[in-house]
Amino acid sequence: MQRDTGIVSQISENRRGRQIFFGVTLLLFGGVAYVLTHDVVSSDSLSAPAMTPVALPSPKPLGDKIEFIVRRNDTLESIFRHLKLSLEDLQHILQVPGLRQRLSQIKPGDKVTVVHEDGVVQTFMRRLNETEMLSIIRGDNGFAAQVVKTPIEIQNAHAQGVIGTSLFNAARAAGVRPDTVMKLANDIFGWKIDFALDIRPGDRFSLVYEQKYREGAYIGDGRILAAEFVNAGETHRAVYYASADGNIEGYFSPDGRSMRRQFLRAPLDFTRVSSNFNLSRIHPILNTIQAHKGVDYAAPTGTIIRASGDGRVNFVGVKGGYGRVVILEHGGTISTLYAHMSRFVPSLHRGDRVKQGETIGYVGATGAATGPHLHYEYRVNGTHMNPRTVALPSAAPIPVAYATDFQMRSNSLIAELTGTPSTSVATLSKN
Ligand SMILES: [Zn+2]
Repeated sequence: MQRDTGIVSQISENRRGRQIFFGVTLLLFGGVAYVLTHDVVSSDSLSAPAMTPVALPSPKPLGDKIEFIVRRNDTLESIFRHLKLSLEDLQHILQVPGLRQRLSQIKPGDKVTVVHEDGVVQTFMRRLNETEMLSIIRGDNGFAAQVVKTPIEIQNAHAQGVIGTSLFNAARAAGVRPDTVMKLANDIFGWKIDFALDIRPGDRFSLVYEQKYREGAYIGDGRILAAEFVNAGETHRAVYYASADGNIEGYFSPDGRSMRRQFLRAPLDFTRVSSNFNLSRIHPILNTIQAHKGVDYAAPTGTIIRASGDGRVNFVGVKGGYGRVVILEHGGTISTLYAHMSRFVPSLHRGDRVKQGETIGYVGATGAATGPHLHYEYRVNGTHMNPRTVALPSAAPIPVAYATDFQMRSNSLIAELTGTPSTSVATLSKN
């Protein structure tokens, strides 16, 4: 048991990382092997190789090293008290020019690293951003501070998955983090695909995305660079492009049209919608109402409802069977309606401008609704259209000045995405 404890504490010092998880996996298997074969394998020969992947690379510090994650309401003083560090040292540190301001900005989740001898601070380090660390070191003439560069290495990772029970389960099985899946759904395909209602078993995705490493340790995912999503047999692809002059940045179809549209397909947090794979997904009660002219998303009370497009608030209040309802006008002839809300965003008033994706209210069951759901309508010239299938105007192509650069980048990313060697790009169309 002592061996386990030692490794857990080292993992917490290393933070999370794929390599670390790999190490844990090895350890678990090692543990199983030990249980099964402990007659012939000594515990030493098992623990030694399992320890290797999680060994700390840093040199042994002079004194005791503490890594501390800042909690809510922590101040430097409370941290020093908590860690039993010298408050006199804190006063001296805060007198170093420029440090008071840099240290006052600590926030929950920040990590500080302290090396001390019996509470006497030797070094105090705090990360300023992804690539810089503030390092305060005790010298012969008091404390001195410097900013240390800690560069990040980016490696491209590939993942693909087939959806069985849910997008998130498929992503987990493929080793993709939830925040990266959210980017796939919200930042890339959220204008094309209704992730609340359109996802089907057998849908599949593949991704090329960045993984960030610092000193060899995985610290998180970066951007998705290229993505494919096959939904109900239809293939959608997107690549990330940023022009050198900074004028153009975002996700584009391989032929250079922005993935963004005037309207989102699903105006709520799709992860909370309960009817993902329910093929008879029309709300049973509303199904019986002949004049039903919208889409229903069954989701828990309180689920965030977002404006599907930029617009202006035309109505916010209670209206008959709609209950608490918001109506937005989107210029021209289009309006959208969001009904049965439990509550509105308090600051929302008639005439206010809203941005696409902005929270306007929360799912409820007010009006003629027997269970919590969002009833969503999309009208053109007052006529109800199906928001899930209505053709949204496609975006303008990328400007001519960037077309060549874009196409080169796009071709190379799509080749990487589809696993086509760059020497045989010509075979791409077979896919
Ligand atoms: Zn409805």
